[in-house]
Amino acid sequence: MKTTVDFFAAVENQFTIQLPSYSVNEGIARAAVAAFCAQLNPTAVELADLKCAVSEAVTNCIVHAYRDEPGEIRISVKLCEGRLIQVEIRDKGCGIEDVRQAREPLFTTDAANERSGMGFTVMESFCDSVRVHSKVGKGTTVILVKRLRK
Ligand code: ATP
Ligand code: MG
Repeated sequence: MKTTVDFFAAVENQFTIQLPSYSVNEGIARAAVAAFCAQLNPTAVELADLKCAVSEAVTNCIVHAYRDEPGEIRISVKLCEGRLIQVEIRDKGCGIEDVRQAREPLFTTDAANERSGMGFTVMESFCDSVRVHSKVGKGTTVILVKRLRK
């Protein structure tokens, strides 16, 4: 099987899980991604960074995408040549009206629940790249890329 991610790095191993958006599944998603990526022998800091970024993206699916009723969250992890990890977190929830605004530090649509609007900022600081595709009423895909040290 020869697949590539869109930055043309060959995929060496991959897995996908799908979970309902129950809050208990945030920790399960984080642990599953970490367990799969452990085969690359990341440092403890690299692994902690990745877990934190995944946690923010999955939490967003739970609290924002499916705020009215639970839905499915799909998480795909690709381990690529050059010690590159790509994690795609996809929901079919409410979508984001203005992605550029949503990514600004401290922007939140949920201040009532004491959210700080720092989730995307955390993802950006712990990953090498963060891409967000979203359509209102259709859902959101967040693609995190992290390169591990050689
Ligand atoms: P925090 O992450 O600090 O608890 P937050 O979730 O509001 O607060 P971000 O994670 O940066 O902050 O997200 C910013 C905004 O983007 C959210 O308030 C929400 O409006 C929107 N958003 C983020 N992810 C999704 C998603 N998967 N579906 C729908 N809206 C989203
Ligand atoms: Mg958030």
